[in-house]
Amino acid sequence: MLNRRTFLKTSAAAIPMTAALSALDPSRTLSAEEVSAASARAPQLVPLPPRMALIDPATEPWQQKVRRVGQSNMTEHDPAVMNIEAWADYWHSAQVDVVYVSVTGILAFYPSKVPFHRHGKFLRDRDFFGECVAAARKRHMHVVARMSPDMNWEDALAAHPEWAMRNQDGSAQFNAEEPRLFKTCMFSSYMDDYMPAIMREINSLYDVDCFYTNGWPPIGSLPECYCAICAKLPPAGTPAYWRAFNDRVFELWQKYDAIAKEKKPDSFFFANLGGNVRGGPNLDRLGKIAAWFQADNQGRSYDDAAVWGCSLQGRVCNAIMDGKTAANVTAAYSTGAVAWRNASKNPAEARMWLNETLASGMVPYYHFVGSEDGLGEDRRWQQVGADYFQWTAKHDAHFTARRSIANIGVVMGQSTQLLYPGPGASGLSTSRLRATMHETTQGIYDALLRGRFAFDFVHEDRLDPVRLGKYRALLLPNIAMLSDRQRAQLSDYVRAGGSIMASFETGLYDENLRRRADFGLADLLGINKAGDAIGSNGNSYYARIEAPDSTSRHPILEGFTNTNWLPGAQNRIPLRPVQDPLLTVVPGFVRYPPELAYPPVSHTSEPAVVLRETGSSRLAYFSGDIERTYWLTGHGDLLRLLHNTIRWLTRDERIVNVAGEGLIEMFCWETVPGYAVHLLNYTNPDAQHGWLQSAFPLGPQTVTMKLPPGVRVESVQLLKAEASVSFVMDGQSLRFTIPRVEDYEVAAITAKPQ
Ligand SMILES: [Zn+2]
Repeated sequence: MLNRRTFLKTSAAAIPMTAALSALDPSRTLSAEEVSAASARAPQLVPLPPRMALIDPATEPWQQKVRRVGQSNMTEHDPAVMNIEAWADYWHSAQVDVVYVSVTGILAFYPSKVPFHRHGKFLRDRDFFGECVAAARKRHMHVVARMSPDMNWEDALAAHPEWAMRNQDGSAQFNAEEPRLFKTCMFSSYMDDYMPAIMREINSLYDVDCFYTNGWPPIGSLPECYCAICAKLPPAGTPAYWRAFNDRVFELWQKYDAIAKEKKPDSFFFANLGGNVRGGPNLDRLGKIAAWFQADNQGRSYDDAAVWGCSLQGRVCNAIMDGKTAANVTAAYSTGAVAWRNASKNPAEARMWLNETLASGMVPYYHFVGSEDGLGEDRRWQQVGADYFQWTAKHDAHFTARRSIANIGVVMGQSTQLLYPGPGASGLSTSRLRATMHETTQGIYDALLRGRFAFDFVHEDRLDPVRLGKYRALLLPNIAMLSDRQRAQLSDYVRAGGSIMASFETGLYDENLRRRADFGLADLLGINKAGDAIGSNGNSYYARIEAPDSTSRHPILEGFTNTNWLPGAQNRIPLRPVQDPLLTVVPGFVRYPPELAYPPVSHTSEPAVVLRETGSSRLAYFSGDIERTYWLTGHGDLLRLLHNTIRWLTRDERIVNVAGEGLIEMFCWETVPGYAVHLLNYTNPDAQHGWLQSAFPLGPQTVTMKLPPGVRVESVQLLKAEASVSFVMDGQSLRFTIPRVEDYEVAAITAKPQ
C-alpha cells in the first residue's frame, strides 16, 4: 500500500495535485502547506470565452426575471380554515415573485361551472381561488394558475368511460391511495375538452399570469394504458411509442399555450417536469417550446440517493433551456422512503437543496402542503425558507447565471435512459434496468465531482458543432442508443479536434433500438466487437497492465505501481485484439472457494481499453461498464483510471481550478456583474444517504481562473460569508482563496471589460 506521502512523491510530477489529493482518503486532513502546494501546481488554464452581450431587461419576458417562487399546496380543507392574508403575508415577507394558486381539475377551488369539476366539500360556493389571487396581486406577486389533469371521480367515469386509463383486462386504472379517483388518459378527450374548458373559465373570470399542470406529463416513466385509443398506438416502452407520446405532449402543450395567450400575449402554459436525465418527454423538443422548465424534484426520496440530485437536475435544465427560466421545487416537507407530507424536513437538507438550485443556475421554489391556517400545523419550515430567500434577494444579480463555464460535456442519452434493454439485451426487469442507467449516471457524476472537473450535460439530440465547440472532451457513459446522425455528428466533432471517452454498449443500438452488428462508433474509436456482453460470475475480470515496467508509461496509468492487474468492471463487451494494447482482459473466475480463485487463463489479447490519437483528438473506449461499477464499489483504481483518462483527453486544461480538500461540487457561471464560482460542500456522512443533519465545514479553497483579455476584476465577494476577499491578477489569471466553506459558498466576481 502506498501511503499518502509516497503517493504525492511518486505521482506529483505527472498528476495535477488537486485531483491527486481528491483521490485520496477524504478523512485525512491536509496541512496548509499541502493545500498551497496543490494550488501552486494548478493545471494549465485556458482562457474564458469573451463575455456575452447584455440582454436588454426591457424586452425580457416577465418570467425571465423571476428569482423566487413560493407555494402552499392547497388542500380541500383550506377554504374552511386558511387565513388568506397570513398566507400572502408569509410569501411576501419571503420576497417571492410568484405564488402558485390551485385551480385544479380534481377539485375546484372556485365556483366552477365546468361539468365534472367537482367543488371541494368545504368550498361552499366561496371564490377561494379569486380571493387568493387578489391577495397576491395586492402584494405585487405573480400568480400561476395550478391545474391537475391526472385524475377525476366516479361520476365523470360513469359519464365518460373513454376518459380513463385502462388495464389490459379493460378495467379502469385507479389511484392507489384514493380508489374513488380514476386515472385519466392523456390521449383521450379529457385533455382536449375538459382541461381547455377550465382554462377558458379561469381566463374569463380572473387575471392570472400563466397556467401550469401538475401530474402531467408523466415524469421519468411512460404511461401504460390499454384504452381504445392507446390500443392503436405502438406497444408501450418502444421507441415508436415514445415518439407518439412526445407528439401528443407537444400537441397538448401548444394547444394549452395558445389558450393561455387568448387572454394576454405574455401568458403561457407550462407543466410539471423533472426526472433528470430520464425525463419523460423528449427534452430537446420540449426545451425549444417551454417558456419555463418546472423541475418537480423536491428532495431525496429514496434511501440510497446522492445529495447532488438537485444539481444533476440543474445540469439537465441547462442542457435544454438555453438560459430560459428553470425552477426546481424544494419540499420543505418530508420527502423520503417514508413520507410525512405535513412535517418539516431537516433544515440542513432543505437548505442544501436550495443551495444546489442556485448553484446549478435554477430559480429556487419553496413548497409546503397546507393545512389549518393554510400554513400548516408544523410551522418550522417558514423561518428556514424566509431566511434563505431574504439572503438570496440581497444578491440577485450574482444569481443571474448566463453561461456555464465548463470544457467537458457529458452526453445525456435520454432515449437510452428510458428505453435501453440492458447489458447484452439481457432481459433484466424494468426496475433493474432503471437502476442500471441510474448507477451509470451516478458513477460518472461522482467521478467528475471528485476530480473537480467543470462539466455540462449535453442532450443527445443537440450534438451540433456550434454547441459542442466549447468542449475539449465529450464523455459517453454507456450511451447505448445512437442514431446514424448522432454518429456522424460525433465523427465531425472528433474531426474538428474534439476528444471522446465512451464505455461499454455505447452505440450498439440505433435510435429504434435495433441492435447493430458492431459498435456504432467502431471506426471512430478503432474497436470491433468479438461477442455479446459478458457479466460476472463470482470474481469479475481484471485488466492486465501490458509492459508494467516500461519507462514511458501511458498517462492513464499514472499512480498504478506495484501491481500487474487492475480491477475490470462488472460487465464487458469482448473486443477483437488491437495493436499494442495498454490493458488486456484477464477473464473472471471463481470467487469462492478460494482454492479456485485464480485465472484459468492469465493472459489474453482481448483489450480492456482502446486509446487513439488522431490530430489533436484523443479517444478512449472502455469495454466495461466502468462508471457504473465504480458507483457500485467505490473502487479507487476505477476512479483513478477515469480521472487519468479524462485528464489525458483534456490535456488537463481547466478554465477554472479549485484546489483544496473535501468533496465539493463546483459550478462556474458568467453573470451580469461578472462571474460566480459556486462551491457546494458535500463532505458529509449523509452525502449518499439522506438527509443532511448538519454541515461539516471545509478549510481553504484556492480558485484560479483565466479571464478573457481586457477583463478587469473589481472585487471578489463571498456571498454566504458576506465578506470581500483579496485577489491577485497574474496576467489574465485571477487567483483568490476562500478561507472556509460551510455548506455552500459563492464567490461573486465583479468584473468590467477594460
Ligand atoms: Zn389510453
